[in-house]
Amino acid sequence: MNDAILVINAGSSSLKFAGYVDTGGVEPEILGKGQIEGIGTAPYFTVKDEGGTRIGEYRWPEDASVTHADALEYLINWIEENATDVRVAAAGHRVVHGGLEFSAATRIDDQVLAKLEKLVPLAPLHQPHNLAAIRALAGSHPELPQVACFDTAFHRTHPPVAQMFALPRSIAEGGVRRYGFHGLSYEYIARRLPDYAPKASRVVVAHLGSGASMCAIRDGKSVESTMGFTAVDGLPMGTRTGALDPGVVLYLIQERGYDGAAIEKLLYKESGLLGVSGVSNDMRDLLASNEPRAAEAVDLFVYHIAKHLGALTAALEGIDALVFTAGIGENSPEIRERVCERASWLGINFDPEANARGGPRISTEDSPVPAWVIPTDEERMIAIHTARVLKG
Ligand code: ADP
Repeated sequence: MNDAILVINAGSSSLKFAGYVDTGGVEPEILGKGQIEGIGTAPYFTVKDEGGTRIGEYRWPEDASVTHADALEYLINWIEENATDVRVAAAGHRVVHGGLEFSAATRIDDQVLAKLEKLVPLAPLHQPHNLAAIRALAGSHPELPQVACFDTAFHRTHPPVAQMFALPRSIAEGGVRRYGFHGLSYEYIARRLPDYAPKASRVVVAHLGSGASMCAIRDGKSVESTMGFTAVDGLPMGTRTGALDPGVVLYLIQERGYDGAAIEKLLYKESGLLGVSGVSNDMRDLLASNEPRAAEAVDLFVYHIAKHLGALTAALEGIDALVFTAGIGENSPEIRERVCERASWLGINFDPEANARGGPRISTEDSPVPAWVIPTDEERMIAIHTARVLKG
């Protein structure tokens, strides 16, 4: 009987999960991964083994009302019934915000949970769901060790100047500063980078998914991110604005009658690719659409990636490699091509054929600055942290 780590990434309508066995080696071994999507509407459970073969599936009846806690309970029962040669020894959770205090993965107890609750207003789209899964599991399995792994932790190495807003000290001292997110993804990429570009010291990584950000990494450490106080800053995303002149928010409050809730909905759920295109928040739909506004939304996305690439290169005082990752970065040759073409001034000589093949190198052999596609694996990073925390 092997001890397994259950990795949980709980979102608003989905619960992604993965199981790993800690074999005592450097890397935990994957057992399988899956998700329960459509929680609140039409929940659907699927799980695949380590080779990608589907080994379980369940669709709840249409009239079933299924909460996150129910979904989690279903998952645990499924594991107990089907994975008979493993025992779930711990759960590792993705938690978006660790604030100033949590600069590393942490074993969860009541005190830690209370501190994480206080950070909910800083990540309203994610943190409540992350914490709900922790609470549900603590209720049903009180003896199970749980570990929180933070999206902010990898960025705690930012120099003070990169963390600072030009606000009065009294506000900054209350924790209003730039944190950065997607840290588990960037940390995973930083671990893999030596396999691809062993000599690269100054690297810009573009994590382009429904949430999108970019990170400047120097010698394996994060030094700057396009995301700031919250995960709404930086690039335009599926439904989030990205960077916005704060004067727009003031105008909407003072002249257009918006209140806090309406602003939050606008910034997080109604804007970005969806708001600009009026078509979809999904890049695949936009690339396939003939609607001029869909094309404009894609143009905006590419423009801002290229612009932030310049800014992050300035923060690093040069660039030795560019990396694309996450749903769009790993799967869309078109977006990669358009970004790289705009970045030729940086010394990126794009290779269209290698790009069409999916890389991993998508620049020519003699490109002064190479560009790569490296698949991210946030779940594996969580399993690694969880195993480490448990070993103390
Ligand atoms: P998240 O984990 O933030 O939900 P993902 O990293 O899974 O996001 O990325 C989701 C995004 O990736 C969606 O916008 C989706 O359209 C995009 N995507 C996935 N496959 C492709 C593809 N083949 N071409 C373009 N975009 C894609």
